[in-house]
Amino acid sequence: MHKILLVDDSKTICTFLSQKIIDTLDIMVDVAHSYAEAQEYVKKNPDYFLALLDVHLPDMNDTTMVDFMIDNDISSLVMTGDFNEDIFKTFSKRNIIDYVLKETPESLNYIVSLISRVYQNSMTKVLIVDDSITVRSQLKYFLNSQLFKVLSADEPLSALKIIEKNSDIKIIITDYNMPNLNGVEFLKVIRRNFSKNKIAVVGISTNEKNAISFLKYGANDFVIKPFFKEEFVCRINNTAEVLENVNKLEEIANIDFLTKVSNRKYFFEKAGIYFEEARSNNLPSAVAMIDIDNFKLVNDTYGHAVGDDVIKALAKILRDNIKGQDIVARFGGEEFVLYLKDITAEAALKFMQSMCQKISKLDIVLPTDQQINFTVSIGVSSQMHMTLNEQINSADELLYVAKNSGKNRVVSDLVLA
Ligand code: GH3
Ligand code: MG
Ligand code: MG
Repeated sequence: MHKILLVDDSKTICTFLSQKIIDTLDIMVDVAHSYAEAQEYVKKNPDYFLALLDVHLPDMNDTTMVDFMIDNDISSLVMTGDFNEDIFKTFSKRNIIDYVLKETPESLNYIVSLISRVYQNSMTKVLIVDDSITVRSQLKYFLNSQLFKVLSADEPLSALKIIEKNSDIKIIITDYNMPNLNGVEFLKVIRRNFSKNKIAVVGISTNEKNAISFLKYGANDFVIKPFFKEEFVCRINNTAEVLENVNKLEEIANIDFLTKVSNRKYFFEKAGIYFEEARSNNLPSAVAMIDIDNFKLVNDTYGHAVGDDVIKALAKILRDNIKGQDIVARFGGEEFVLYLKDITAEAALKFMQSMCQKISKLDIVLPTDQQINFTVSIGVSSQMHMTLNEQINSADELLYVAKNSGKNRVVSDLVLA
């Protein structure tokens, strides 16, 4: 787990901040009250995620501890009692995360939100695309100060190769004038495959006029060269934050809260697209409806919480066993639906039969160490001439045939044909 080193001679501030960090983030905190103590901690644990530093300690001057952290490759977030020209000059020269006031409860909350920001950044990949090595290394230096994971390319075509290999790139920062493609042409290629909410693009250029083309073709932001570190860093952090918020909203809208697999709404959206693709390319696909057998009995015997655990276990085993773009969604209470891409009726039946068996062998261990098992009934429809809705209804009817003929089995339209 990540660890922060908090150094402050005020015990009240240390208690408040460390508690707040532990409560809000999944991060542990070591607390030191002097520079000497801080050095001891770093000697013992050189892998601090970051250091949160009060720079007015009795046993050192303002910059000693920050420089010590820089020498030990630990990023610093500096807390000061006031802002003035001297502080600005001192700390803008050093590659720290930021310097912040620590006077009021609001400023302490702001510190925690900043830590949360850079914590997210440490899991966020950013790609810099610029033909100037100077600009690339300057931006890398800025982004490293905010703990982003940074990749870089010197022209758009090699950038596209990097994007292909790194599906987790979240932000691309691109210059305008470059060999092979200009920044806006490059942006157009990106936007063919990735929306604004999937990959954020920030244009950079010395020419202010390029801002308009970048923004009109779907850039999330634009920054003029030469850069001011503070402005650049704020804009990239804002971009990362907006992207995360949009992704969180999308997740809330598309994911089932209990099981974390897709919900019904998402299933219809996504399966609808796959279904049209499959039909226009004359490719087979299958829909399977899965319902837990005698689930009411599980709830009645062990309680609703155990019932929930059984539903979650079923979601997990389904998710773990489907391939690439197949979809698993919770359709309702203890009922799930699968959309299987590019699969023949025979293969779909075989796959669902193997799932039915695997599920029946799954052991759910209760907190009392008691072990329970459950079974499911499954209906599979692979008919090519139907609409998606008809295929879902057909799978549902086949599911009820499975229920009525003894449960714990798969019935497909292949078997009935
Ligand atoms: P069958 O074998 O015919 O499917 O019988 P069953 O008992 O599984 O089916 P029935 O539809 O009668 O019961 C489903 C039960 O699922 C009823 C409902 O209380 C319960 N249920 C629905 N949603 C949830 C949930 O989110 N959590 C839990 N624990 N139970 C749920
Ligand atoms: Mg049931
Ligand atoms: Mg049911």
